[in-house]
Amino acid sequence: MAEQATKREKVVIIGSGPAGWSSAIYASRAQLAPLVYEGAISESNRLSGTLPLGQLALTTEVENYAGFPHGDLSAFLDSSIAPERRQIMAPHAKAGVSGPELMELMRQQAANFGTRIVTDDIAKVDFSRRPFRLHPAEGGVVEAECVIVATGARANWLGLESEDRYKNRGVSACAVCDGALPRFRKKELVVVGGGDSAVEEATYLTKFASVVHLVHRRDALRASKIMAKRAHDDPKITIHFNSALAEVLGDDAKGVTGVRLTGTDDPKRETVLDVSGVFLAIGHTPNTAFLDGQLELNPKGYIVWKKHFRTDTSVEGVFAAGDVADDYYRQAISAAGTGCMAALDAERWLAAQGIH
Ligand code: NAP
Repeated sequence: MAEQATKREKVVIIGSGPAGWSSAIYASRAQLAPLVYEGAISESNRLSGTLPLGQLALTTEVENYAGFPHGDLSAFLDSSIAPERRQIMAPHAKAGVSGPELMELMRQQAANFGTRIVTDDIAKVDFSRRPFRLHPAEGGVVEAECVIVATGARANWLGLESEDRYKNRGVSACAVCDGALPRFRKKELVVVGGGDSAVEEATYLTKFASVVHLVHRRDALRASKIMAKRAHDDPKITIHFNSALAEVLGDDAKGVTGVRLTGTDDPKRETVLDVSGVFLAIGHTPNTAFLDGQLELNPKGYIVWKKHFRTDTSVEGVFAAGDVADDYYRQAISAAGTGCMAALDAERWLAAQGIH
């Protein structure tokens, strides 16, 4: 029996990171009544790092999102902002906004303008016909005149058999999610990677660990200068350059008990570290599997923007925003910016079709 389409939507936004919510804020203010599929709260999404609110919900303080300053703001607030205007900023706040808080604020901002939100994944799409057809994981079909894909990217794994064996038993790709677990407290831990994420995870883990070993395959960190300095200056972080994680060691009773590292400059150089946890921070893969090849992707798997400084994809009426289409900047604020662009592109495209 053919599936019945439930309702035809003007704009469906898939994804709930800064790109998704920013596009929802713009689309709802443009009276397009957007419907956001924010993702399902499921164990498989938890394990793959694709729960609602995206990667920012897995981070701690956000220091570089303009408008949310860190530091002691009391003197500034007293001199510059009237007390009744201090809606969000606590009068003497020293910490800025956290990733999860920022995402909840964006979600609420979209909801306040009438965005409707469904807590489910879109499992499958059909962009071969218009209106487009979207298949939520929980069943049914949603028809959409226009779609904004803002599904972000997920953390990568090394692909070692031993890494897989100890996932959830000492091996993790999210320090903020798992770092506070009792098994990691006052223990030595390993973080693999040399980018901003690796330094951020290592720094976060120093709150709980006795020592954090940062293992990087090259002889210099890729992280930004300020983050790299943070890692070098932290007495609880020991950096192992020119080193690769060859094997996670452990047993069934205890889970992870150590790691074996090999030299990337000399494969015969082996080091065994007694650690209770291993955290991977080795980059990301865009969440595009559900598209099943229906949008053009670049060789790294990111959606291709087909027009200069526009968010158009290879299918007319489908726009992409945020990390799913950005393998270069990958910042919360650039994702939010492209979310705004996608909503404006969608609005103008719909208007050209006579849909307002
Ligand atoms: P990234 O910058 O791509 O760094 C990935 C790191 O993992 C690199 O050091 C890379 O080594 C290493 N790596 C990749 N594959 C590996 C493998 N198979 N084995 C061992 N090591 C491997 O990714 P990221 O750190 O997740 O950052 C992504 C983006 O988010 C960046 O633009 C970053 O600036 C941003 N970000 C910013 C902040 C912040 O500002 N607070 C925090 C987190 C992320 P090589 O260096 O040898 O390539």
